[in-house]
Amino acid sequence: MWPESAPTEADRLSYADAEPMPYWLSGPRPEARPALDGKAESDLVVVGGGLTGLWASIQAKQKDPGREVTLIEREWLATGASGRNGGFMSSSLVHGIGNGLTRFPDEVPLLERLGLENLEQIRQTIREHAIDCDLLSPGVIEVAYTPAQATELVDLKEQLENYGHEAELLDAEAVRGEVNSPIFVGGLWHKSGESTVDPVKLCDGLADLAESLGVTIHEETEMTGLEEAGSGVEVRTSSGSIRSGKALLATAAFHSPLRPIRRRVIPVFDYVLVTEPLSESQWETIGWQNRQGLSDSANRFHYFRRTADDRILWGGFDAIYHYGGRVEESYYQREQSFAGLAQRFLTAFPQLEGLRFSHRWGGAIDTCSRFFAFYGTAHRGRVAYAVGHTGLGVGASRFSAGVGLDLLDGISNEVTKLDYTRKKPVPFPPEPLRWSTIQFTRNRLAAADHNNGERGVWLNTLARLGLGFDS
Ligand SMILES: Cc1cc2nc3c(=O)[nH]c(=O)nc-3n(C[C@H](O)[C@H](O)[C@H](O)COP(=O)(O)OP(=O)(O)OC[C@H]3O[C@@H](n4cnc5c(N)ncnc54)[C@H](O)[C@@H]3O)c2cc1C
Repeated sequence: MWPESAPTEADRLSYADAEPMPYWLSGPRPEARPALDGKAESDLVVVGGGLTGLWASIQAKQKDPGREVTLIEREWLATGASGRNGGFMSSSLVHGIGNGLTRFPDEVPLLERLGLENLEQIRQTIREHAIDCDLLSPGVIEVAYTPAQATELVDLKEQLENYGHEAELLDAEAVRGEVNSPIFVGGLWHKSGESTVDPVKLCDGLADLAESLGVTIHEETEMTGLEEAGSGVEVRTSSGSIRSGKALLATAAFHSPLRPIRRRVIPVFDYVLVTEPLSESQWETIGWQNRQGLSDSANRFHYFRRTADDRILWGGFDAIYHYGGRVEESYYQREQSFAGLAQRFLTAFPQLEGLRFSHRWGGAIDTCSRFFAFYGTAHRGRVAYAVGHTGLGVGASRFSAGVGLDLLDGISNEVTKLDYTRKKPVPFPPEPLRWSTIQFTRNRLAAADHNNGERGVWLNTLARLGLGFDS
């Protein structure tokens, strides 16, 4: 269904003038918080100013208002994955119900219930604190491009309904009635457990909330070292240090001082284009009046949605891993991925020929082999971490932040006792095997997409070993 030919000059021209930065970060931002300069003390240091770190600092104060909480961010808040994503906010804590059933089937009923509660609590926080982040909850349509994908959606509907979700199957006519693309042959409208947001406005609102609760935030403050000191830890930073009772690491795809994280998290780069605003006549050719988020069920999948100011965000498909697993600024722009995205956008929406893209960017996803967050402690329980959300952390980050805090506080409850919390994903092999295994796996995923989704021997073997590669 996607063109086999190389992208054309017209495809490349469509994004040639696009700003090389995330659309979400291009709006007005609050003034940066001052960097830490010198020595400081705290009861808890949260490292990482994305959604996980922000939620962790808020919940730490809500649980114990007397505790001193300091959040440090190496760059600016929301400049990691939290400011680069599609803004799909799902209730799933396990990267989709099918993945959860493969990993921890006995725990899925509880995890699905907790996931729905978590999403509701995020919505409630947004309402209660009047966070202006364009929250909408019209659901997500998972579209099928092939009859085989449409058949899989029938099973998925049953799974979702078994675990308390609401979902509606759409035939070709019905899905095109919602969003008009000649390549859609069916769809499953997930009507519960899905919202969309502007993720940067959400982060900025959460940062204000954190500060109103008494959290100290330092931007441009990188943790450069972490060691035990006295009865707590010392967090060394680019221009000072913090003596703290405890530390929570919410550093996602970035380099970690902890080996259990380095073995299990790889940065996978995913790319996104956003169009100029569409005219009313252009929208008439597409419909999309209900503003659902859309994604597809291929191995190499796209996600797409309307923005509040009537552009289309179109991302996904490529999942690029660079040898050595570094997050480099230069990796945020990738010509080949943008050209492919532009070409496939016009295949999905040929009626929009001539529309140009205004923004193009990439982001590093903290992929682990089970595709959802994992947890642990280090330095005799004084440090905890919550990382590895893979491509579905906008909603789950709030839940993971709470789990990380519970581990740090030594709390035993229904969640900390779960295998979901106690077990860690299978590590990736070391380099150079890591790079070559991932390239081969990407190749096999592409082959499966060309072969009606049929996964061959390699992918089935990896699945049996609990190993996977996704974005
Ligand atoms: C292109 C793209 C599209 C995505 N689309 C979606 C989507 O639509 N829906 C969804 O649910 N998920 C999506 N995701 C995933 C989602 O964005 C993440 O799971 C989520 O934002 C995780 O937040 P986080 O706080 O854990 O990570 P991040 O936002 O990456 O935050 C980690 C922060 O830690 C900081 N940091 C790292 N090391 C240090 C250090 N040593 N000292 C100080 N600070 C440090 C980093 O600078 C960074 O700001 C997408 C991700 C990408 C990249």
